[in-house]
Amino acid sequence: MDLHEFQAKGLLRNYGVPVPDGGVASTASDALRVAKELRGDAWVIKAQVHAGGRGKAGGVKVVNSFSDVYDVASHMLGMKIVTKQTGPEGKIVRRTLIEKATDIKQEIYLSFLVDRDSEQHMIIASAEGGMDIEEVAEKNPNAIVTERINPVTGMGLFLGRKIAKKIGLESSLLNKFADVANKIYNVFADFDGMMLEINPLVVTGDGDIVCLDAKMNVDENALYRHPKIEEMKDYGELEPQEVRASIFDLSYVSMDGNIGCMVNGAGLAMATMDIIKSFGGDPANFLDVGGGADVNKVREAFKIILTDPKVKVIFVNIFGGIVRCDLIAEGVLKGSDEVPSDRSIVVRLDGTNVEEGRRILEEGAAKTGLNIVTADTMADAAQKAVELAAGEDYNPEKKKTAAKAKE
Ligand code: GDP
Ligand code: MN
Repeated sequence: MDLHEFQAKGLLRNYGVPVPDGGVASTASDALRVAKELRGDAWVIKAQVHAGGRGKAGGVKVVNSFSDVYDVASHMLGMKIVTKQTGPEGKIVRRTLIEKATDIKQEIYLSFLVDRDSEQHMIIASAEGGMDIEEVAEKNPNAIVTERINPVTGMGLFLGRKIAKKIGLESSLLNKFADVANKIYNVFADFDGMMLEINPLVVTGDGDIVCLDAKMNVDENALYRHPKIEEMKDYGELEPQEVRASIFDLSYVSMDGNIGCMVNGAGLAMATMDIIKSFGGDPANFLDVGGGADVNKVREAFKIILTDPKVKVIFVNIFGGIVRCDLIAEGVLKGSDEVPSDRSIVVRLDGTNVEEGRRILEEGAAKTGLNIVTADTMADAAQKAVELAAGEDYNPEKKKTAAKAKE
């Protein structure tokens, strides 16, 4: 789950990390009130959307008068921000963060991640702050320093100083950096962060270290132990389908293709997307209905898939382990009652009572007139789905890789 900058900064502030004073505003007059309360003579107005790269897209502005606070905030609120991370459809700005402007002497990059390979946390730092880290990695990989952190022992001041030295900070800043980096790490670790990126962490004109930006993602599966974080979830940032999916406890991620996928289990869902690709097709989504696959969930999953107008075919790929295939087949049949007749449903069931499941589907399809195609194997089903989705544009040449996959 992604947090907004102001939410992550709230957590950091509580842990003693220096962040600029500021407040959130959802109207221009709110923004003016916040700026007046902050006093001073320069403020930053920052769009609160779940995406980086706001600076380049007009989502971060430094202003020097109250009238500019008002004008810039009113322009920014309601604006659509398009950055590399939002995709072409962009994000609407519903809130702004108004902060006292910081006098920047140096911009540093600092982030923490979960490193699956080493089963540890990872710290990444660079003196080339303020830029995309991907860009730095490409153009000047030597400027990036990484170290592993054992989550059991924590980070420690020594590692902080070591990294500060490696990125070339002045010796007067080593202890300060180590202290701030440790506090940031503690926020990351205590709240089950998947990523916490401070870009930039800055050295101010007065020689202080301040956290100017904060992007945080926390592990959804750990939310049960952080009710305060769960309350921070901003449904306004999710696609309507994702909101519906979260109500029914389905995992849904939309994509660009035309084959809707309904699958149980995340691993099978990934494999389904892969096999569609290998037959030359394109999945429209990732959707995991979970272990149960009961009628309500299946019906909801069909509805969510069908809100995407690109979907031509729905590929149902369900393994009946704990739940028997005959029950799943009934669920699919009942749940598909709202699927329009011009869409085909390709079903591949496997597992307990598979014969019975297939019979129910075939009989049901004959009775209801639904366009249900059953398939024996996953490859068979994927091929049928790709053929049906492509229609007259079907190109068997594209199957070359698939033929190999089938072997
Ligand atoms: P991002 O573009 O979404 O990553 O947003 P950031 O919060 O990182 O802001 C982008 C850039 O705006 C930073 O790298 C800074 O160069 C600049 N910026 C942000 N806050 C301030 C500030 O208080 N003072 C000054 N002078 N520049 C700022
Ligand atoms: Mn940034």
